[in-house]
Parts: sequence; C-alpha cells; structure tokens
Amino acid sequence: MIAMMNARKKLLAVLFVILVGGLFGSANAQSRTENVILITLDGARTQEIFGGLDAEVFRSVNKNFEKTAAYKNYSAATAKERRERLMPFFWKTLMVSHGSIAGNRTLKSEAKTTNRLLFSYPGYSEILTGQAHDDVITSNSHPQNPYPSFLDFVSRKLAAGPNAVAEFSSWDAFMRIATNKPGSFVVNAAYETYATNNNEINELFRLQSQVLSPWPSVRHDYFTFKIAMAHLKQFRTRAIHIGFDETDDYAHDRNYERVLDALNKTDGWIKELWEFVQKDARYRGKTSIIVTVDHGRGNSTKDWSDHGQDVPEAQYIWMAFISPEVALRGEWQNAETIYQNQIAATLCRFLGFDYSENNPNAGKAVARLFSE
Ligand SMILES: [Zn+2]
Repeated sequence: MIAMMNARKKLLAVLFVILVGGLFGSANAQSRTENVILITLDGARTQEIFGGLDAEVFRSVNKNFEKTAAYKNYSAATAKERRERLMPFFWKTLMVSHGSIAGNRTLKSEAKTTNRLLFSYPGYSEILTGQAHDDVITSNSHPQNPYPSFLDFVSRKLAAGPNAVAEFSSWDAFMRIATNKPGSFVVNAAYETYATNNNEINELFRLQSQVLSPWPSVRHDYFTFKIAMAHLKQFRTRAIHIGFDETDDYAHDRNYERVLDALNKTDGWIKELWEFVQKDARYRGKTSIIVTVDHGRGNSTKDWSDHGQDVPEAQYIWMAFISPEVALRGEWQNAETIYQNQIAATLCRFLGFDYSENNPNAGKAVARLFSE
C-alpha cells in the first residue's frame, strides 16, 4: 500500500512537472507580447525589397533615368547596398538587430499567397482573416467582408473597448475588408473621418481633404501614418494594422521614381514607429510586428507595374517578423515555404491566442518562429 502510494505520488509529481513545465514553457515563448502591429506595403515587389533599385525597370520607363534624383539616391553596385540605400532603417537596423525576413528566393526562402487572384482585396482578406476565399471574394469592389478578421477576434478576446484594436489605411476598401462587423473597433481609410476628441487627428482629417493624392480612393500614406500614430499614442492600441498604399498606385502609374521614393518614405515611418515603441513602457519589449505585402508584381520591364491572375510572379511575397519572442535575425535561407494565410494566426499566437478558435481553416502560425 505504501509502495503503491509512493508510485502514485511519483506519477503525480511527474505529471505536475510536465504540466507546469508545459505551461511555463509556452508562457516563456509567448508571454512577452502584449501588443501586435501589422504593417503592409501594397504591392511592394520582392525585387525592390531584396534588391533595391531595378535599373532595367527604371530604364524602361525613363531613358534618362541616371539623371534622376531617385537614381542618385538609391543606386549602388550590389543588391545589398541598393536595398540599404532604399530602406536604410529596415535593412541596417531592424533586420540586423531585431527581426528576420522570409521571401528572398535567391536564398531559397519563399513566401507566397494561397489566393490565386493576386490582387488587393483577396490578398488583404487572406492576411487579415487567415484564409483565401477565391470563390467569394473576386473583386476589389466586393462589399463588406463576410469573414471575421484577426482584428475582430483580438478585439473580442481582449474585450478592452473599441480603441484597443484599430485599422488605419490609405485605400478606401479597408472600410470593407478589415471587419465583418463595422463599428466594433476603429477602422479608418482613405478620406474617411470619424468623431474624435484628438486634436491632432482632427487636424490631419482637415489636411487630408485639402492635400489630394492622384487617386480618388487613396489618401497619401503620410496621413495614414500620422493618424495611426496619434491614435496609438492616445490609446496604446493593442492590435493595429497600418496599411500603406502608394507603392502600388505609383507602380500602376509606371512612375518608378515615386515607387522608390514611397519605399524610402515608408522606411522612415517604420523607423519613427519603432523609435516610439522603444521609448514607451507599454510597448518596449512587449510588441510583435509583422511587415508584409498583399501581392507581388511582374518581373519583367513589361509587367513589373502589374499583378493579378495573369501575372503569376505576383504570388511571391515577403514577410518580416520582429518580436521579443523570436531570436531569428536577417534573411531566411533554405527555409520551408510560408504562406500569406499564416499571418493572422502568427499575430494571434504572439499574443497567446489560438486563432483556430476564430477560424479552424485558417493557416497555422509560422512554426519556425516558435521553434528556434
Ligand atoms: Zn494594385
């Protein structure tokens, strides 16, 4: 009987160690993240992200391209130097000291969409909801997203009010893409406004209606960024998506000089956001960030400006992960292919939430981030 008790006690002790070890193990891997930030650069090609200025493309739109300010600012001998001139903060600080990036095919790392449509609404819906719905979402003018996004899910899980989760984007379609329940958290896009007591945001709303972009459905990214920052500072938002757009629209316009400038400006805004995160007690060491893209674009001088079903190259995307939970740095090499539908679950996993509760068919959290 005593022997039996000892055996039972031993078993209980072993079970206890396994249970507690498991709990603390997963807590250690996840507990630091209290906030997540998703940043997207619409249609920013892997070619520029990993290789910087593409001289062939530039020459194809401007035979005097070597005389432009953009060429002087961003040209260099090697891909590494060119991308560092184009996005200096991203490449020389963020990816060196704080995060890693998947999708450089020359290093045998691929990141891809699972949707086959390769344009924006399907791409953002895949990012935000964790699943492609090529049978349902077939157009950028699709009405309200019928599927809940990770922002909807996180908003429900946190139960911290309508300002704890937010979406700020330059493109008006985000009013429809970001949530299946408009009104449950802040969604602000393009030239939309909302009632707020934040003077800085009200001034930006006034200015955005005066400083017109070339595209009626898209406000300048500057406004999107500044409004998002003002909101973040006021409410210490726990989950936010900032959707930049100019990289896509200047490319459609075949204005390569401005595509490069837009990447460079966005790099500066990411730096500004990062510096705020570093000096704020609510964010420093507790914030996980994913920077990614809705779709790629063509790889030739003919179709670099384009994307969609007829441009299969546009399925290749990139994803950068900056998180206190993750030790990976620099570019992924010889890695398993990862997919756009894994982003929502990854962001939720950083927060300690299981996204399959929201959508069992969504892509799973990117395993490599949590295994090394
Ligand atoms: Zn586009």
